[in-house]
Amino acid sequence: MAKVVAIANQKGGVGKTTTAVNISACLAYIGKKVLLVDIDPQGNATSGAGIEKGDVDECVYNLLVEDAKINQVIKQSSVENLHVVPSTIQLSGAEIELVPTISREIRLKKALSEVDGEYDYMIIDCPPSLGLLTINALTASDSVLIPVQCEYYALEGLSQLLNTVRLVQKHLNTDLAIEGVVLTMLDARTNLGLQVIEEVKKYFREKVFNTIIPRNVRLGEAPSHGLPIILYDVKSRGAEVYLDLAKEVVAGG
Ligand code: ADP
Ligand code: MG
Repeated sequence: MAKVVAIANQKGGVGKTTTAVNISACLAYIGKKVLLVDIDPQGNATSGAGIEKGDVDECVYNLLVEDAKINQVIKQSSVENLHVVPSTIQLSGAEIELVPTISREIRLKKALSEVDGEYDYMIIDCPPSLGLLTINALTASDSVLIPVQCEYYALEGLSQLLNTVRLVQKHLNTDLAIEGVVLTMLDARTNLGLQVIEEVKKYFREKVFNTIIPRNVRLGEAPSHGLPIILYDVKSRGAEVYLDLAKEVVAGG
């Protein structure tokens, strides 16, 4: 059975997609079989994992709204052992189209359960909202991993996210756990970053991953080449930290 982890935070630009793509690729790199599931209509995880938009016939939209077969949707990424359920802009209508449908919150869970035995990990890249797509991800997941950017107001909005997690635990997925909080885009030259680390650790305590992701130019460049950092520049600091983070996730069970 695969362990399913949702990467969620309704704030945009905090490093969700970078974390989803690179944890997935690093888990694959250390020999795990991984399915990266893109449920953001922007499709950045899809392209970041090396899948060209033109090569996608059916995407996660067809899974959620049209009951497509997941095996027809899954694509091979640029990394061995890493497969992808791609997303396209078509998914932007799903949030509304799903509203009147039956079992609208458990559609992703049902689709993923078809291939559960084929993977060690499934990593879901969520959109920057707490709507039905994120609810589908949380319902399908064993745990949620929350990237928090090292900036002012880092904790802002997190109570809403935790509230959504609690609602999902109560009504849809009693076993949903918090995998942890990962601090991202740290600029070690400023005091601000260190203050934010302290603040987040005070709030989330042992739930904060030891690995902190610094700002790293190579991490920002890699997506435009359709390569996770581990393939784009294995010697970079970005590759090193995401490998550390992936190992922490594995050690966490
Ligand atoms: P989200 O998915 O939460 O919107 P992204 O992962 O897309 O956030 O990150 C936002 C932007 O910041 C992207 O352009 C990404 O390449 C860049 N970025 C993310 N993490 C880092 C990092 N550690 N160092 C440098 N750039 C980063
Ligand atoms: Mg994103």
